[in-house]
Amino acid sequence: MMRNFEVAAPPKIDFVDGGGAKPMLIGGEWVHAKSGRTFTTVNPANGETIAEIAAADSEDVDLAVAAARRAFEESTWRDLNPHARSKVLLDMAEAIEAHAEELAQLESLDGGIPIAITRGMVASTALTFRYYSGWPTKILGTVNPVGDSVHCYSVREALGVCAGIVPWNGPLVMASWKIAPALATGNTVILKPAEQTSLTALRFAEILGECDLPPGVMNVVTGLGEGAGAAIAAHPDIDKVSFTGSTMTGKKILGASVGNLKRVTLELGGKSPHIVLADADIELAARNAASGFCVMSGQVCVAGTRILVQDSVHDEFAEALIKAMSAYKIGDPFDDGTTLGPVVSKQQFDRVTGYVTTGKDEGGRIAAGGEPVNSSGYFVEPTLFEGVDNRMRIAREEIFGPVAALIPFSDVDEAVRIANDTPYGLAAAIATRDVSTAHTLARRLRAGVVWVNTHGELDLTFPFGGFKQSGHGRELGAQSLDAFTELKSVMIRL
Ligand code: ADP
Repeated sequence: MMRNFEVAAPPKIDFVDGGGAKPMLIGGEWVHAKSGRTFTTVNPANGETIAEIAAADSEDVDLAVAAARRAFEESTWRDLNPHARSKVLLDMAEAIEAHAEELAQLESLDGGIPIAITRGMVASTALTFRYYSGWPTKILGTVNPVGDSVHCYSVREALGVCAGIVPWNGPLVMASWKIAPALATGNTVILKPAEQTSLTALRFAEILGECDLPPGVMNVVTGLGEGAGAAIAAHPDIDKVSFTGSTMTGKKILGASVGNLKRVTLELGGKSPHIVLADADIELAARNAASGFCVMSGQVCVAGTRILVQDSVHDEFAEALIKAMSAYKIGDPFDDGTTLGPVVSKQQFDRVTGYVTTGKDEGGRIAAGGEPVNSSGYFVEPTLFEGVDNRMRIAREEIFGPVAALIPFSDVDEAVRIANDTPYGLAAAIATRDVSTAHTLARRLRAGVVWVNTHGELDLTFPFGGFKQSGHGRELGAQSLDAFTELKSVMIRL
């Protein structure tokens, strides 16, 4: 099936300096890279250039770290009364809400994400700041039972200079997961957005200038992964890196952290199983499974790309799944009705379509999709392979596109064996009507998040992160506060 359409004119992007390459925010000033270098950001819906952006390297990272360190040591932020810190975070949430539509449009322009989704993402970004604005006044220490002749207590303190390195699939949401808890706990922050989607981070930083953050408390450094990103990961004066992205890059960041043993949180890739049992509500399971790999064109780390279905309902489920997939509407990200935008870049397009070829070469049969989309943008049809063996590359490697593999199983033990037979362990889903099966199966799955009769839902109170090569540490909830603080114990002999 070939589809043809033109993408509507994108919104204006005359923010920050109103022309030329976009500068970055270091120590409260908007500056260009010392080298003068820039990189290009492209609209994935039509392949056209949107803007040039400053390309930082280690020299610029040094300046950002020095600014963030100064702001930390001056302690106007770290030692701010917790009620006042809380108020600033709340103001940040309100500033985001006041500019919500503009930020959503910019996110859709730069990342190709449908506007209906980016509107939700901006709301979720604001909610993250709201949630963490409640915490500064509630971070308690302990008094430890060491005996009558000593007074012993433990307190949480800010780590210092914390960097967030974020990917392109949820630029603002991912940034908020790093910035909000880091600021709530009194740290200073350097944000490095992904090179494919840096625009919202810059506009976001400009908007947050309306709030009462001292200069240098939040910095945004733009640039390429191997340049700015690698310089951050290796920097001797950064205390923590919180990273979301690919497992390969996560390993590099962990390796680079050993120089100063900086704290590292990693939220990495996945190849998540979605287990459909014979007793499931088949229509619901099909809708959840389709959304599990079609939403965001499959560019989500939790994508349920291995759909394990019990033999006895295989054909019925496959038919329902294909029907659910066909409900996704490929189109202009700025159309309210579009549910499937382009993948983020030409590189990603080549990678995803390359996997479709690999799947065919390996003997997988295409049950739906797999046809080219006639457009100058990087659109990929939702594609389902059947007859897939879990040893095939399309069942083992993260594709990060709307491509899934249907894998049959005969009983629960076999489902568990296949589900856990992966180097990843980020998420898993189960479709069943039996509550006992749901609980026992949830326990047996080696994954940081397990969904039952739903997929992809997250909550700020819900610790998020992966087992095995899907991650290191947890984000959200109170776990993020631990991840952005050191614990200090004090003993006083009385
Ligand atoms: P992808 O390969 O899908 O673009 P990455 O995990 O490489 O995903 O990118 C996520 C983030 O990591 C981006 O901000 C990118 O610039 C950054 N990055 C890439 N390579 C490195 C690296 N070697 N060190 C630090 N950050 C990096």
